[in-house]
Amino acid sequence: MSKIPATKKLLLIIVFVWLTGCATTQIPEQASQANIIVYNVENVFYEVPRDLAEEEARLAAIQRYSPVLKGKKFFLDPGHGGEDRRNKSLSGKVVEADVNLYVALYLKSFLEESGAVVYMSRDKDTTVDLKYRSVLANNSGADFFISIHHNAPGNSEHYWINYTSTFYHGTEDDYEYEPANHDLARYVQRDLAYAMGNSGGLGSFDGTYSDYMIYAKAGFSVLRETQIPAILVECAFYTNRVEESRLQIDEFNKIQGWGIFKGIGKYFLTGYPEIEMIKDRSRSIGNNVELVFSLSSKSPIKPESVKAYADSVVIPHVFDPEKSELTLLLENPSRGEKTIRVLCTAKNGNSAQPYHKKILIK
Ligand SMILES: [Zn+2]
Repeated sequence: MSKIPATKKLLLIIVFVWLTGCATTQIPEQASQANIIVYNVENVFYEVPRDLAEEEARLAAIQRYSPVLKGKKFFLDPGHGGEDRRNKSLSGKVVEADVNLYVALYLKSFLEESGAVVYMSRDKDTTVDLKYRSVLANNSGADFFISIHHNAPGNSEHYWINYTSTFYHGTEDDYEYEPANHDLARYVQRDLAYAMGNSGGLGSFDGTYSDYMIYAKAGFSVLRETQIPAILVECAFYTNRVEESRLQIDEFNKIQGWGIFKGIGKYFLTGYPEIEMIKDRSRSIGNNVELVFSLSSKSPIKPESVKAYADSVVIPHVFDPEKSELTLLLENPSRGEKTIRVLCTAKNGNSAQPYHKKILIK
């Protein structure tokens, strides 16, 4: 403590008081190696959202989302755990593996209360191999995958950084990119950041990020290997000393779970287009094959958003907005199995869930 110049100490105390809004005496400690000042923040600030704090309002929110969440299957993946407990806050009081689990368990309880089915990669402090998490998700029968993490800066001198971010796989020019993942990421990001009172960081305008920003052309293993729609949430930076204090509080972890839950609920309440092949209208015409699909949506489909692929090659299509029908023409296709992929986006901004249908040309 004595190593800090008096003027710097005064400035730090002023900043601290500004952050906490009170003048409780705090003792800064010199972190041994990185010359980092660590505060024991006793007065941490957050608000419990009214619709979580008041039971009547909370039940009303659960009821609002229940019709769209009932029967939906979610796979929650609290990151790390067991032998992997190395990610810790500066004071050591927050272990990332633990807060990931606490937030996931609250999210699970809210989803189940709404009638959703929840699977988890782990529900206690146990080791689950990174690759095995996607295997578990792919075999679970779940429809949506949500991985929950907390962040740390690449450079430990940036310990003051804090924001909320949500990742999706790939970038828009990439065949692996599924716009529906990005949609869910947007909804979860907005409500989680709002509930925590955090910004989404300066690396993107809405707090959602491609996982290629972290690992170019590869992304995160859990998002790349998971075959159902998947997102990864970095709730906040456990290395930030104010956030570290909040993350230790059970009620705050509950607020985080509530934020993610509301984002999910609003996404499904807004809705997305449904794609279905009309089998008895699909036929062979000479050497060509015509495939017909219905694109149903409570918000009209944007005609320019409709795209179709056969084995990752763009194919011509005709979209009739009146009937909301899509007709694809496969000209002189080779025999064998083909994967048809259809993309479309509604005016409410949400795209259809990933649609990949295998067809057999005889
Ligand atoms: Zn993590």
